[in-house]
Amino acid sequence: MKIQAVRGFKDWLPEEFAKYEYLIELAKNILKTYNYKEIKIPILEKTELFVRSIGEFTDIVQKETYTFQDRNKEFLTLRPEATAGICRMIIERGLFVNPKPLKFFTVGPMFRHERPQKGRLREFFQIDVELFSELNPYIEAEIISLAMEILKAPFFQEKEQKIYTLEINSLGCSECRPKYREDLLKFLEENKENLCDTCKERITRNPLRVLDCKIETCKKVISKSPIITEYFCEDCNAHFKNLKEILDFIGIRYVENPRLVRGLDYYVRTIFEIKAKGLGAQDTVAAGGRYDYLLEELGGPYLPAIGFAIGLERWSISIFGDEEKGGVLSSEKLLEKLNPDIFLILLGKESLIKGFQLATFLRKKGLRCEVTYEEKSLKAQLKNADKLSAKYSLILGEEEFKKKSAVLRDMRKSIQDNIEFKDLEDLSVKVFEKVKNGV
Ligand code: ATP
Ligand code: MG
Repeated sequence: MKIQAVRGFKDWLPEEFAKYEYLIELAKNILKTYNYKEIKIPILEKTELFVRSIGEFTDIVQKETYTFQDRNKEFLTLRPEATAGICRMIIERGLFVNPKPLKFFTVGPMFRHERPQKGRLREFFQIDVELFSELNPYIEAEIISLAMEILKAPFFQEKEQKIYTLEINSLGCSECRPKYREDLLKFLEENKENLCDTCKERITRNPLRVLDCKIETCKKVISKSPIITEYFCEDCNAHFKNLKEILDFIGIRYVENPRLVRGLDYYVRTIFEIKAKGLGAQDTVAAGGRYDYLLEELGGPYLPAIGFAIGLERWSISIFGDEEKGGVLSSEKLLEKLNPDIFLILLGKESLIKGFQLATFLRKKGLRCEVTYEEKSLKAQLKNADKLSAKYSLILGEEEFKKKSAVLRDMRKSIQDNIEFKDLEDLSVKVFEKVKNGV
């Protein structure tokens, strides 16, 4: 029987790997300039961490986590997101005493048992960015601006495409949210018969989450629901107004969405989502917000915080497209890098051993060099070089060594060049120079 990958878990073939690696590198370079430090946290955490942080009655904890008992009967969960783990790390390692701001990022897989579809996997990758410092709208504007800068980075040489839309909202605080929640609950109870079964359940457990339902009939009800912005206390009002002023000033466009909510309980005040064109129903590429009390709730000190996560797969689709549809940028140049710079065609015993040494030299110089040690005809090897999309091939047989002249073939232009050489070292240097200048 053929063994298949677990549903919703995806292999990254070289073409995908190249795109993801490119995007991650772009993101890392930008994050460095903002003084974020890269960390790695475990993929597995105690289940309790996520129940306490994300919230017991959220969809993620109720339905989406991969939770199991290990051999010691301890309940463990594959992380569905990274914020909780980073908070756990800060508390456990006592990092909260370090000078502020604390700024971390991590790149890695997250796991959620959701229905797989375009842009929705069970193992997906996030670039997760977290900042612990102060309750300040400037910090929010900076982090939003950073998220946008990262997403748009692939366009640095091209005309910027308007594919990303930023939506912002505030969820209020412990002073103003309860009254809103109460009124929303009342409204949802009154309109209960028009909500889907999942939302009916959500009413008492997690009423705010109803606002996020994607089902048309629910959306219709929600469009008439009370909105949080009308319930803000003085502080929340001023804070949100201030954030918008800063965003206006630095020229970041946004859409205010007073019904924007997040699927995790720890958020307070400012939250945001960045949506992209071309993604279909799963169009949120990045999302984040403020979570000032999470560290405290997990047993640490009070330390305001804000963060966001970019979904790597969705980001990649928004740029390069997928199997169904091309993207706004071509990945041709990136994928070209996967082709061998040079393929050595070795004919005869003497050239096999010398070719081995030549390949080692070229590889040490950083060229992508391919050699097969099969004794095949010139014609067969040239064909192979072509199939492997090698940029150059070097023909090296006994004849060539006798005459001290080798043939370097530019596979794309189909032109050949003779390289005269004194010895193997001389040949190695000359081949390297030619290929390097031509690639
Ligand atoms: P959505 O409901 O749009 O899936 P979410 O609110 O559950 O998103 P977050 O927890 O905020 O998502 O995660 C941040 C980002 O991670 C999302 O914007 C998305 O790009 C990505 N992401 C989340 N879940 C998945 C998934 N199952 N598959 C692929 N990417 C995902
Ligand atoms: Mg989700």
